[in-house]
Amino acid sequence: MRIGILGDIHGNLEALTAVVDAMRAEHPDLWVQVGDLVGYGPDPGPCIELVRGLGCLVCMGNHDAAVLDLLDTAYFNNFAREAVEWTKEHLPEEHLSYLRSLGLVVHHPEFTVVHGTLHMPEQFGYVISAVEAMDSLALQQSRVCFVGHSHVPAIYMKRDQGDLFVAPYQPEIRVDTAGFARVLVNVGSVGQPRDEDPRATFALYDTETEVVEIRRVVYDIRGVQEKILRAGLPPMLANRLSLGV
Ligand code: ZN
Repeated sequence: MRIGILGDIHGNLEALTAVVDAMRAEHPDLWVQVGDLVGYGPDPGPCIELVRGLGCLVCMGNHDAAVLDLLDTAYFNNFAREAVEWTKEHLPEEHLSYLRSLGLVVHHPEFTVVHGTLHMPEQFGYVISAVEAMDSLALQQSRVCFVGHSHVPAIYMKRDQGDLFVAPYQPEIRVDTAGFARVLVNVGSVGQPRDEDPRATFALYDTETEVVEIRRVVYDIRGVQEKILRAGLPPMLANRLSLGV
């Protein structure tokens, strides 16, 4: 089975469309999304529609939870909080109820999906180093787990005996995970990459070959930047997209 995994989308329809087109060429049998469909970007509704249309398995992200008033935004920065308020005002009840239907963790026989970490998923901690990866891997029941949240791709692999291997960071990477008992993949971000590479990110996993791939695709950054400004969202949210931060 070939699985196509979408990272944080954040209402960026231009990036999502480019990623979906690139992924369709890979003929995934199953689509997964790791949460944060909304927040920051100007097209939360069309992004939700597109993801629903793909039949994606989706978990809830912290921005999705904030828009639903399920999460206190006190720890969000001002730009993120402003975008949450904007998104609340622009999503119809049908889309809010879709977000409300999402679980914090999705369990599939082949993999697990969580936005932050498996350790207290409702607190949306980040996997940004081997330390947090070890905490999450210790609770991982399936061989593979897909996460997002940091907007930086990373692959952690653990052997039965406890050795952890971290794939050296590259904006695009292909890793054969055969022989590892547990694999944790941070799939990066579709709509707001933060590894100084502004291209949209997606991941592919083949359950037969056990190969994980992180791929990038260029998209119409200028187009979404203009929409962000026209929508009255903070200009910094447009600016950061061309920097990949
Ligand atoms: Zn996010």
